[in-house]
Parts: sequence; structure tokens; C-alpha cells
Amino acid sequence: MSWEYSCPECKAMLNPERTIILAMQRDDVRLLIGLHPQPGKYEIHLPPEIAVDDGTKWNFSCPVCQAQLANKNDPDLCELELRMDDGSVKILFSRIAGEHATFVLNESSLKEKHGKNSDRYDLTFGQSKYLV
Ligand SMILES: [Zn+2]
Repeated sequence: MSWEYSCPECKAMLNPERTIILAMQRDDVRLLIGLHPQPGKYEIHLPPEIAVDDGTKWNFSCPVCQAQLANKNDPDLCELELRMDDGSVKILFSRIAGEHATFVLNESSLKEKHGKNSDRYDLTFGQSKYLV
């Protein structure tokens, strides 16, 4: 399976290696984070001196063009584009540290959801609002 993540805005490829690289910011702290490319895997790579407390909300942005990745309709979710062997999907993931919620959407519906906190989000019905 090949995974190719890209920025919805500038289309830059965000996982040149195995890890998805994103910028995240909160107050005056800005850092780069590495995320596991497989939806539902929550291994993260952080700079060693950085503490990220569970429950804190972070703003994720594209490290190339600085575009904010927040979903327009749910400010607690961020979005990325993902091209896989069998087509392109949209990935939504929580921007709250420690919260495990990831969604895979194709053009018309929710394909997969992952993570112990995903039930907090109702994408099963009315998910079209996430597809703007
Ligand atoms: Zn970008």
C-alpha cells in the first residue's frame, strides 16, 4: 500500500519519507510533528524538549505554504488529502492532543473511522457538511 498525503491548499506532498510532517502551533509554541501515515495509528514524533498535554488544542498547518488545515465545518478536525493505490480520499483527524479520532471520506460518504474517541464526532449522518 502506498500512501501519499498532500496539503489541500498547495498540494505539496507531506510524507516524503514514511512520516507525515505537519506544523503545529499553540500560543507562542510552534513545532514540526511527525504522524504515522496509516489512519488509526497514533504514534507521533515530537521534538524531545516539547511537552504536549492531553486535551490541548493545536492549530495544524502545512509546513510548505502555512495554510491552516482546519476543516471549515468542524474546528476540532483537520483535513488532509490522501492518495492511495485505489484512489484519493480526504482524511479528517482531531487537533486535540491525546484524542484519537480519524476519518476517511471519499467523495460521497464516510469510508472508515478510527480511534477510541471517534464516536464524539457524528460523521455517519449529515457528513456532507464535511465535504465542502
Ligand atoms: Zn500547503
